[in-house]
Amino acid sequence: MTKPQVLIAGNWKMNGLGASLAEANALAGSLGQTTARVAICPPATLVQRLAEVLTDSGVLVGAQDCHAEASGAFTGDTSAEQLADAGATLVILGHSERRSGHGESDALVAAKVQAALRAGLEPIVCVGETLDQRKAGDALAIVTGQVRGSLPRELAGNAFAVAYEPVWAIGTGLTPTTPEIEEVHRAIRAALLEMFGDAGRGVAILYGGSVKPSNAAEILHADEVGGALVGGASLKADDFLGIIRAA
Ligand code: PEP
Repeated sequence: MTKPQVLIAGNWKMNGLGASLAEANALAGSLGQTTARVAICPPATLVQRLAEVLTDSGVLVGAQDCHAEASGAFTGDTSAEQLADAGATLVILGHSERRSGHGESDALVAAKVQAALRAGLEPIVCVGETLDQRKAGDALAIVTGQVRGSLPRELAGNAFAVAYEPVWAIGTGLTPTTPEIEEVHRAIRAALLEMFGDAGRGVAILYGGSVKPSNAAEILHADEVGGALVGGASLKADDFLGIIRAA
């Protein structure tokens, strides 16, 4: 099983209006040759328009969440099928802001992963420990527990990525040291190999949490880091390009 292609995905979170499409257009226009797969995950309101703007650009469009059901009486929710219909090809699932702000459990994340697979979306499944959990020495147990609980067996044979996002590093400017990142990524790889056999080697393990142009090269070249999930720095084309070019 060969190493997966590096994936750099931008998570716009609840940021962006129609005017932000120009930023994505600027990114696509300046991207040039890159060995990485590049994706932007805008809010659901922009998925369709972004997919239109980025047609044939090589930049993929993802969503930030989906419902576990395909359709029905779920006011305010969006299904994986609807996101795929709007032009998304990937979906972030289990982001810590969903786990903490919306009470999402590993079991719910796993159900959403199954929904994404049914709709043909590639899931990017997020895991990560809080600062208290890290201080208590529980980071590896928490993260590998989330990997085991959030990744259903149905993923076997499908494209997916795991994003290690320490909760305390998201939007804070703090990052773990490179050896700390490598320790967690190696533990995730071991869990993937245990769950999916040799195919687990082909899963990209992204790092996320305060990635910026100035720290991207070191993080992206660390052992077992197969890309980045980028929040704040993905909102500006120049910053996001700086990260992509570091891959
Ligand atoms: C994220 O929310 O996925 C993230 C990594 O955010 P930031 O890069 O802003 O820390």
